Amino acid sequence: MSNYKPTFLKPADSSSYLDRNEPNLIESTNFVYNRYVSQTVQAQRQKLPIFNYRNHILYLLEKYQTLVLVGETGCGKSTQIPQYLIEAEWPAQIGICEPRRVAVLSLANRVATETDSTVQGDMVGYAVRFDACPNQPKIKYMTEGILIREMMTDPLLKNYSVIMLDEVHERTLYTDILMGLMRKILKKRKELHLVVTSATMDAEEISSFFNLNETNDKKLDTSVILSVTGRQHPVDIYYVKDPVPCYLQATVETVLMINSSKDKGDILAFLTGQEEVDKVVRLLTEHANLIEQERKQHKMIIFPMYGALTNHDQLKVFKPPPDGYRKVIVATNIAETSVTIPGITFVIDCGFSKSKWFNNETHTDSLIITPISQASANQRAGRAGRLRPGKAYRLYTEKDALNLATTMPPEIIRTNLNYAVLQLKALGIGNLMKFSFPNPPPAKNLKSALEILYALNSIDINGDLTDPLGFNMAEFPLDPMYSKLLLNSGDFGCSEEMLTIVSMLQVETVFAKPTTGNGIIKSRIQKRHFEVEEGDLMTYLNVYGGFANNNMDRGFCQKYFLNYKAMKRVAEIRSRLEKMIRNYNIPLVSANGKIEPVLKCLVSGLFPNTAYLHFSGTYKTIRGDVELHIHPDSVLYTLPQPQWVLFAEVLFSTKLYMRDLAVINSDWLLEIAPHFFHKTIDREFD
Ligand code: ADP
Ligand code: MG
Repeated sequence: MSNYKPTFLKPADSSSYLDRNEPNLIESTNFVYNRYVSQTVQAQRQKLPIFNYRNHILYLLEKYQTLVLVGETGCGKSTQIPQYLIEAEWPAQIGICEPRRVAVLSLANRVATETDSTVQGDMVGYAVRFDACPNQPKIKYMTEGILIREMMTDPLLKNYSVIMLDEVHERTLYTDILMGLMRKILKKRKELHLVVTSATMDAEEISSFFNLNETNDKKLDTSVILSVTGRQHPVDIYYVKDPVPCYLQATVETVLMINSSKDKGDILAFLTGQEEVDKVVRLLTEHANLIEQERKQHKMIIFPMYGALTNHDQLKVFKPPPDGYRKVIVATNIAETSVTIPGITFVIDCGFSKSKWFNNETHTDSLIITPISQASANQRAGRAGRLRPGKAYRLYTEKDALNLATTMPPEIIRTNLNYAVLQLKALGIGNLMKFSFPNPPPAKNLKSALEILYALNSIDINGDLTDPLGFNMAEFPLDPMYSKLLLNSGDFGCSEEMLTIVSMLQVETVFAKPTTGNGIIKSRIQKRHFEVEEGDLMTYLNVYGGFANNNMDRGFCQKYFLNYKAMKRVAEIRSRLEKMIRNYNIPLVSANGKIEPVLKCLVSGLFPNTAYLHFSGTYKTIRGDVELHIHPDSVLYTLPQPQWVLFAEVLFSTKLYMRDLAVINSDWLLEIAPHFFHKTIDREFD
């Protein structure tokens, strides 16, 4: 990396995140962040902006079936509303749905502290994919997927008196699906109430979606909006003078610049993915170690934050740093909303995020790095002003900021719908065209999902779930292609291997990527110990096998340049999946080094993701004829190109890259999935 340092422009008053003359938004505060001043938790609760609205919220929820609540992140929506309801003696259970696992865990822990209990008690609990507390708590935080699965056994959610859909501005696929489902349930169960919260202003649209009043008489409306004006301190926005050549390096430089200033407060930097976060964490840790060795001032402690961390590692960022240290959190957009990390005064925003876009021709999602929306940029900047005035450093120019789109389109219109459609089918939604979505997904994407589900044998020709396969796949907390692999794995005699491969695919990457020249070469050499010519998925078996045989040791990971935290998460997921497949009576068997059964089993679930080597030298999907390339990180990248491959994921950067590949034999496609291929393959080789 060159010695590039970003230059920031002084903030223009007009570009400040909040209008500093707006009196009710600002408080010249006595609520200064100081981790040594102990305030009682109750006093803290009463200082939250939402406290002024407590009675109003309770009143509106008595009067209306749905309350749409808009308020800045951090004003107290997620932690306080459930407690107000319990204090007002609403009957249990109160269920709160969050788009992200980390929000569920941190909120449950926070509310446990505030109610002087634990997440094992009967006041507060949580449930996330693969992990739930055993009790039936009064206040239950959960991910969206959990509530959808609960609906399969309890279609009217009879255990709940209030459901809160939190963070709906994120508009994840499941937020939208849940909104559609909740609307149906609210029609049938008038005594069930719904709180929908959002940090931004799409309230009107949401409120009218939930308004079940079909007359013009406003008095009969069933849905109402309340805006909570928050305590948000001003955040000065700094833009770079010129576009930065590399936002990773600019992030590192900006952290160092802030750290060497006298200003107190912790730093939160936003990047797009795990690899970027790891790289920046590594560079910053080197600097932090140097500072420590040379006994200089301005000590730093660095934390990564992304989806592939274990629950335990994700929660580390919430702890105050040791005395004399500044905390630096390098995160993906997981930290953009949903969680309040105490102490943040500085935000560094790279201006990009990674999102999924579905291509209904290839039937695959691509991960694409795109500029964020203005709503996200404001949300990111806002993280700096929770506790006192803050600063946000944007690694893009003011001119570029003006060109950002206002909001991102909801995920439901740009993502793969296979799993969602399967679950809706399991919930008895026969005709998806008639289902009321807040924003209907494109008909082509729905059709593609039905086609894939049919090819996977999870629905029949009439679109009904098959018994038991379709029902089992709907219950499994995995993409249907992966659940099919696991459910088939007993028959192929390789359930141990499938557990490993599927678990490895649940994290972005397990390979640590050094940044120094020497490190890069060493890591490549070490990776060769695991590599096999059958591709990445089979290579993963060696990686995980090595890790498991070495007692899941940190030293093993260091030696072989594996990301220890990601490997631990893989092990966590693997043991949960193992428990699940036992429940389906799938025998735990290993192919004992035989390769063909494992590859054939992979074909049985991933056959829609296959490509062949075209005579032009590039790969093409078998259906759709879309051009694909082998990703440079793949073990197959440097080997002679195999004729047929299967892949787990497509990544788009300059072109469409296949990631996580396996080499297959085309005969298996016809043997295992003739219904999907015969015509296409015949045509191709006539
Ligand atoms: P919202 O849902 O409106 O974004 P929350 O209810 O999550 O807000 O948080 C309200 C306040 O509770 C925060 O501003 C912060 O002061 C405090 N808080 C929340 N979570 C934590 C936590 N894990 N650790 C410390 N304080 C927290
Ligand atoms: Mg919240």
